[in-house]
Amino acid sequence: MGSLDGKVALVTGGSRGIGAAIARKLAAEGAHVAVTYEKSASRAAEVVASIESLGRKGLALQADSADAEALTAAVDQAAEALGGLDVLVNNAGIFPRGTIEEMSLADFDRTLAVNVRAVFVATKAAVRHLPAGGRIITIGSTLGERVARPGMSAYAASKAAVVGMSRAFARDLGARGITSVVVQPGPTDTDMNPADGPRAASTLALSAVGRHASPEDLAATVAHVAGAGGAFITGSVITVDGGVNA
Ligand code: NDP
Repeated sequence: MGSLDGKVALVTGGSRGIGAAIARKLAAEGAHVAVTYEKSASRAAEVVASIESLGRKGLALQADSADAEALTAAVDQAAEALGGLDVLVNNAGIFPRGTIEEMSLADFDRTLAVNVRAVFVATKAAVRHLPAGGRIITIGSTLGERVARPGMSAYAASKAAVVGMSRAFARDLGARGITSVVVQPGPTDTDMNPADGPRAASTLALSAVGRHASPEDLAATVAHVAGAGGAFITGSVITVDGGVNA
């Protein structure tokens, strides 16, 4: 018996990195899981295959998070194909770097579209399906809370914004028994922030434990919040950062 037996989850950006680990973990806990992706069709198919190998239903949906119509349709398709929706994980994100002198307005706008506007869009679509006990889990970042290096303005703004929005969702949806939580990773070993990349040493300068998180470290926290352990956690921010922001 898994903690999510019979539940249905949708993970945006579930083709790679943290989102793929979350999708696999939720399936391991018993959920049927849909993932969205932008470009990585074959990697999304691999995630679906591993979900199905656990005996759950899996579904991959191409939907650019910046395209509100496509993202809304993906949420509806997931609910229709998998028999409802219990858990939405707003995970898809991008991380363009550059100081205020370097960052273009187009990069800023794209960052806000994918990291912030899409959270509003997907959540608005999901709440038409979520029952009492539903979960909205949004992946933020420690950079939304503390910025220790240059070049982060658009990204830090986006991740601070989702904290405010998630708290507001908690107020909007509490009476329906739906929770809204931000899980806030620190440096995590993915394509976005590889543990063997050129920035790794400086990235870890503030870490208390001296290593990147694995995507599975994040997935474990998301699974806890998605399951019975998350029933009374709402409006909260849960930091999973090895002490980076300590
Ligand atoms: P990756 O770059 O490894 O993976 C990003 C995922 O998001 C992919 O599945 C990608 O799809 C998807 N995605 C990106 N843009 C879009 C889009 N426009 N529409 C739909 N899907 C999209 O990132 P991580 O796994 O590292 O990051 C996941 C989340 O965690 C993000 O919100 C990120 O900001 C956050 N985070 C990550 C940290 C880290 O150190 N890695 C630290 C703090 C927060 P595709 O494969 O098709 O491109």
